[in-house]
Amino acid sequence: MLARLPIPAGPARHEIVTSYLTRLAVLHGLPEGELWAHVATTRAADRPGRKRGRIVLADRLAVVTGRPVEHLALALPELRDPSPDWTAWRHQSQPGCPRCDARHDGGPVLRLLPHHHYVCTRHRYWIGPPDAGQLPTPLHDQVGDQIVAGQHRHNRLLARYGAAAVFDAVLTGFLISGHLWNHWPKRDQTTAAVHAWKQRAQSLIPSGTETTTYSTSLLFAAVYPEAVSLAELIASRRGGNSPTAILPGSGCS
Ligand SMILES: [Zn+2]
Repeated sequence: MLARLPIPAGPARHEIVTSYLTRLAVLHGLPEGELWAHVATTRAADRPGRKRGRIVLADRLAVVTGRPVEHLALALPELRDPSPDWTAWRHQSQPGCPRCDARHDGGPVLRLLPHHHYVCTRHRYWIGPPDAGQLPTPLHDQVGDQIVAGQHRHNRLLARYGAAAVFDAVLTGFLISGHLWNHWPKRDQTTAAVHAWKQRAQSLIPSGTETTTYSTSLLFAAVYPEAVSLAELIASRRGGNSPTAILPGSGCS
């Protein structure tokens, strides 16, 4: 007989089930595994390539949390039925915005985020795919304004063209930006865009702090606004414009 847990702790948005169950167990002082024993069952290796493992049953979790299955599935993507299109999601869970996470008790919150989720626009944190062990980075000042605005434009692009097209377009935007940054032929005559990337990188990874602040993910943050601008052009499929035509101040400066 399943009993309802007394502390009404809800899941975080996009939280992985393991993270939520761990927090519930910590909050209630339950031994590791006891909650799993109540809400999970063993899945058979019933077809080639599928491993045997435990799966959480949404209706059992609904009983112990007192939350409707539909509400749990909204927050916990693994419990959705039918399953989400996993190609639109990252393959690894990560910490989210620390101010969003602070609303949830019981320990660290691990989330599985969709590919397009790069910034918490409410609290201004970069949560793009992190390097291993990297924590979310706060975004300040004008650099933060530009990166947050990039996420808003990215969201509009997603609503217009869909996840698959926008994923390809933004990835291509990142690749073009990275190529321009690395291979601009005359280092004394950089474009305004390359100048902006250097300024943003300097703001996100200040000189002298590289050993603690450097991450490849923050270099992606530095070029993100222009990568989205390029994606707008690519996703529109209108063609006709040179990609460099939409980089701010493309002329030499
Ligand atoms: Zn947040």
